Amino acid sequence: MPLYLVHYSSEVGLKGQNRGAFILQLQRNIRAQLPVTKVRFWQGRLLVESPHEDLDFSRVFGVAWWTRPHVVEPATPEALHAAVQSMARALQARYTQPPTFAVRARRVDKRFPLNTLQLERELGAAVVQAVGWKVDLTTPQVTFYVDVLPGRAFLYTEKHPGHHGLPVGASGRAFGLYSGGIDSIMAAWYMARRGVEVELVHFHAFTEARHAHEGRAGKLAQHLARYLPRLRVHYLPYHHFMAATLDLQGREQRYELVLFRRFMARIAEHLARQEGGQAIFTGDSLGQVASQTMENLAAVDEAVSLPFFRPLLAFNKQEIIDQGERLGFYALVLEPYKDCCSIVSRNPATRSRLERIRDLEARLPLQEAMARTLEEREVYEYRVVSGQWSVESDQRPVVEWTVVRQGEGE
Ligand code: ATP
Ligand code: MG
Repeated sequence: MPLYLVHYSSEVGLKGQNRGAFILQLQRNIRAQLPVTKVRFWQGRLLVESPHEDLDFSRVFGVAWWTRPHVVEPATPEALHAAVQSMARALQARYTQPPTFAVRARRVDKRFPLNTLQLERELGAAVVQAVGWKVDLTTPQVTFYVDVLPGRAFLYTEKHPGHHGLPVGASGRAFGLYSGGIDSIMAAWYMARRGVEVELVHFHAFTEARHAHEGRAGKLAQHLARYLPRLRVHYLPYHHFMAATLDLQGREQRYELVLFRRFMARIAEHLARQEGGQAIFTGDSLGQVASQTMENLAAVDEAVSLPFFRPLLAFNKQEIIDQGERLGFYALVLEPYKDCCSIVSRNPATRSRLERIRDLEARLPLQEAMARTLEEREVYEYRVVSGQWSVESDQRPVVEWTVVRQGEGE
């Protein structure tokens, strides 16, 4: 049965008294997200067993790196000598020219008869003897890593990088306003990477949530779900807000966007309070568009009292896109989508005067619109189906969804 060696991020290691809870959360998430049979904490690292050959642990936040080690047991200098030689011989076929190499040893078990330097020299000599490669300690093409632990040693040449961060669930729960655009999905990804259990709140311009789920909003959400033990998306119709603001006159229409943002923030806050969320967040980035001036962001903050986070506030657009591209989100964003923010006034007031906004809110039937909108809420839950993990096909695990709640009133 394939064995994986998984190292958690140094930040998890720093958690002092909470360290145990963080590591347990990480173990739970690995079990929920990957088809594994056993996850064990041993000597400051995780040992994971799975019948699958190509598990991708970078899907689980809190993982610093992982590998599939060769296990040498018992760990004697003679056994390591033989193991590193056969590993070098097996690698030889991959190179047309003999590569340079280095040995990096770590000795956790201090009873081991050789110290780190002696072990590195001894194994280096073994590799030279077996395949004749040259040592290069600064930029080796092949690195043999050896971890000597009590009773056994791990030998490996690859360290697959994870995204570090903290295990989801370790930092509380937050509700994110999610448009189906790149900024808000990346905001959710970054919040989750800090260990936040995220839920998304999406306003759609369709007659049924199903269409939003089948469209870009649902597809992007499913892509995000591959990084989480589970993801809930609350789909809400936009049309009640639209009906409530139909009689905005002339210049008042310039406030429509800020009114909509405040409306959405209040709904997200309501859902967060109802379902155990401690904060809300958006994909706003300061000054990116007219609606994201300091004044407008402040006007939206003012509508709610829960902590309001904007993880992308200081990111440049290109940085957000680059990260979205690396992780496969951006390709999904390019698909056309009926977006309600493009329906709302295109010429927003850039200086939102609060008094004016409050007057308008008092005049318009927004309370009723909020109640109706909430009544029509539909909640989808997305989860990776562990048993159907199919790395061979397209590197993507299969995501399954269930409708958790379908507009049956509050
Ligand atoms: P995004 O790329 O996330 O769409 P954006 O840069 O296009 O963001 P705006 O359209 O100004 O910015 O929206 C700002 C933020 O408001 C979004 O990041 C999101 O958090 C929230 N938001 C916008 N539209 C919606 C919507 N239809 N449903 C829920 N939240 C939304
Ligand atoms: Mg947008």
